[in-house]
Amino acid sequence: MSDPRPAAPPIVRRLTLGYLAALTIVALLTVVSHLTLQHALHTENGSAAVVNVSGRQRMLSQRIASLAAQYALGDAGARASLELALTQFDTAHARLVHGDPAEDLPPAASSPGLQALYFGGPDPLDAQVRRYSAAATMVLTLSPADPRMKPLLTALFAQARAPLLVGLEAVVMAHQRASETQLRTLRRIQDTTLIVILLTLMVEALAIFRPLVHRISRYALQLMTLATIDPLTGALNRRSFFERGASILEQAKRHQQPLSLLMIDADRFKLINDQHGHATGDTVLQALAKALREGTRGSDLVGRLGGEEFAVLLADADAVSARQTAERLRAAVAALRLGRDGAAIHFTISIGLASVAPADTGLDIPLARADAALYIAKESGRDRVECAT
Ligand code: GH3
Ligand code: MG
Ligand code: MG
Repeated sequence: MSDPRPAAPPIVRRLTLGYLAALTIVALLTVVSHLTLQHALHTENGSAAVVNVSGRQRMLSQRIASLAAQYALGDAGARASLELALTQFDTAHARLVHGDPAEDLPPAASSPGLQALYFGGPDPLDAQVRRYSAAATMVLTLSPADPRMKPLLTALFAQARAPLLVGLEAVVMAHQRASETQLRTLRRIQDTTLIVILLTLMVEALAIFRPLVHRISRYALQLMTLATIDPLTGALNRRSFFERGASILEQAKRHQQPLSLLMIDADRFKLINDQHGHATGDTVLQALAKALREGTRGSDLVGRLGGEEFAVLLADADAVSARQTAERLRAAVAALRLGRDGAAIHFTISIGLASVAPADTGLDIPLARADAALYIAKESGRDRVECAT
């Protein structure tokens, strides 16, 4: 069995797909932005750790020179401090060369430039550090009075001042620069992502959301019209006639205004159908509804209760003025001439009238009285108005 539900029009499907695509773009951009940020933060952390450890190593190199001098001058207490500083210096170097994943420390020689600085050229930084450490360790093996001490210290000081300090400084600077570049790139990526997301949202709102909402409200209006209006005659259908009539009745009671009901039935309508065909019958019903609308006020209700039966709720009308309106409607319909294939069709209506009484709790009560009056009008020869007693 095929699905009885109507398929969505292609434009709605297109708009929905567009909406989904735009959502996907925004979602992807958000994920990319998040991953980029994660990656950048990770790299940034690594750079910060290298700057930290190599800065400390630079500081230790100067402390080692100073402690070695104190030891050579006979300060025995400097020995332990020097040993400790040397251990720390060597450990820092090993961590910088190999990296330390446990501490999120990447190898310091992370770029070709730093690789060259550490391991390339005639006197690489790695060799300088080892040599410096070996020289300082050598100091500890000599007694302060040893004649080899003075040249050893001179060499140590010379190294500490120029090549080593400059090399370690270069490592710190390179990582600081890399970290700054990284931050700038990150900011650019974030700005771009933000702009693209905002543009996508704007396009989505203007090109997808607006027409989609527009269409949905149009369909909702169509549905509402279909649910309340009789498609053939444009009169209210039975359900909405009673719905709106109930609130008019309530209002009339609250303000103590008169209210009257007309039950209207086309006379010998079956004959028209039989003689001129069903389509002509439909045209007659349309003409009747039009005449009822044109002969009443905007605040009155015209409803098709079924077949060739209509009802009119006359707001603010007592029995006298309702009768005048009913007579006017009857005469107007009787004067109608509908041209069809050269034949001027004319028809009449019978009307039963009932005014709403204070005791009427719902429209169905006066409507039954109007129906009874209509029956009398039919019995009395049709094309006439009868009032309920
Ligand atoms: P009376 O004067 O006693 O009211 O006679 P009548 O012929 O009008 O009444 P009857 O109830 O015998 O016939 C009503 C006809 O209205 C029968 C039905 O086929 C026709 N009818 C009902 N709805 C429609 C419609 O939507 N279009 C058309 N063309 N005819 C309809
Ligand atoms: Mg009839
Ligand atoms: Mg009828």
